[in-house]
Amino acid sequence: MSHAFEPQQQPAVPVAGQSVRFPVHRIYCVGKNYAAHAREMGTDPTREPPFFFSKPADAIVADGARVAYPPRTTNFHHEIELVVAIGGEGREVARERALELVYGYAVGNDFTRRDLQARARDKGQPWDVAKGFDESAAIGAIRRAADIGHPQRGRIWLAVNGVLRQDADIADLTWTVPEIIAELSTLYTLRPGDLIYTGTPAGVGPLQRGDRVEGGVEGVGTLANAIA
Ligand code: MN
Repeated sequence: MSHAFEPQQQPAVPVAGQSVRFPVHRIYCVGKNYAAHAREMGTDPTREPPFFFSKPADAIVADGARVAYPPRTTNFHHEIELVVAIGGEGREVARERALELVYGYAVGNDFTRRDLQARARDKGQPWDVAKGFDESAAIGAIRRAADIGHPQRGRIWLAVNGVLRQDADIADLTWTVPEIIAELSTLYTLRPGDLIYTGTPAGVGPLQRGDRVEGGVEGVGTLANAIA
């Protein structure tokens, strides 16, 4: 059977040093996974199980791309994050075996319409319109775990127009990558092509048209985008 119309292009992320691309299946995100960010969002950092939301796979935006200031917001925020790229399939994966599913890592920006998120939170509504909009998932090239290993510490930072806004260490993640994979895989079957945005450290803030936003994770890479 042929399709009723030409299918949308498969979203994919470049793999550093390779001629292949990483085809994106789903995008999962972890909420409030650094204590200092939980505090700046007005909540108590706890070790309650991590909570998740998601973005559509075609929300990805490449390193170097111009990102359109999104509609229906006046408080468009950056969130620099370590992203885990999944290369294997798994359900109810044990923490001890979780890293076997990891294909690699990337630097991501979980762009957020903060005003819509606050409204959703106040009304007990879903976060989709605040988090899962067009061009909301910036991501740099994936570096393979086979090349860089599994980073457990290293600086995570973000600057806007050269001014540092977020500066922390991935060692400060409340829930580690194996813990996130173990928990997420009790809710969903993880599949090759899944991306997991692991949460942002403190210092989130607004972006304006014309801003240049740049960030990185030590040992993983950098990510830069202009807001158009
Ligand atoms: Mn986030």
